Amino acid sequence: MSKETVLWGRYEELRPDQIEAIKSEHSVAYIPWGAIEYHGNHNPIGLDGIKAYGLCLELAQAAGGCVLPTVYHATSTIKAVKDLEHRRHSIEHSEELLKLLAEELFLQLADEGFKVVLLLTGHAGQPHMDLLKEVAKECEKKCTGSKFLAIAEFDILDDSVLVANHSARGETALQLHYRSDLVALEQLGEGDAPTLEKDAVWGEDPRLATAEEGALIAAAFVRAGKAKVDELLKSV
Ligand SMILES: [Zn+2]
Repeated sequence: MSKETVLWGRYEELRPDQIEAIKSEHSVAYIPWGAIEYHGNHNPIGLDGIKAYGLCLELAQAAGGCVLPTVYHATSTIKAVKDLEHRRHSIEHSEELLKLLAEELFLQLADEGFKVVLLLTGHAGQPHMDLLKEVAKECEKKCTGSKFLAIAEFDILDDSVLVANHSARGETALQLHYRSDLVALEQLGEGDAPTLEKDAVWGEDPRLATAEEGALIAAAFVRAGKAKVDELLKSV
């Protein structure tokens, strides 16, 4: 095996010797975190997790490491937003469950010997996102031998590449990049720009999204993510 070979795998598919081989070269575990959340009639309810998993797989192929199965338990979904009428097609969990699940995953992956545990949340509702970041910081105090980081994809990208959005141009471009078969932009019709109230869209018009744009966003994420992972590995 050449030095340049990047070792990576989907955690649940690996045998113990394969996990140990990957870990000895790249001691990184990735936790893709999504939500079951209404994303309008043009995108699937699992968009956040599909996006996070796709980005983690691409990052692991560049930086090495093991990608865990996607977590689809979220809080702060659109179902819980007051004054909005999107009450169906989301599953809202408690903040307690979210914190406990994140802490158990972080600490057990550290116990499994991973030096860096990177959680990527594709769902950026609040306080969902901040709670995961807080848990990462608390785990770092409890377990000084490993580094824990929780980020959303746009946290490490320039605003010109991607900003926080909900089922808008950015998320739809990534969904088209990973699973274009699940997108139905024709559901939005051809009239006025989609809105948060009517279509659960927050941000630029998703009808402008393309798979090519999604691929560019993913590539920028992989570059920034690999730099972050390398920096964290050096700091352990
Ligand atoms: Zn989303």
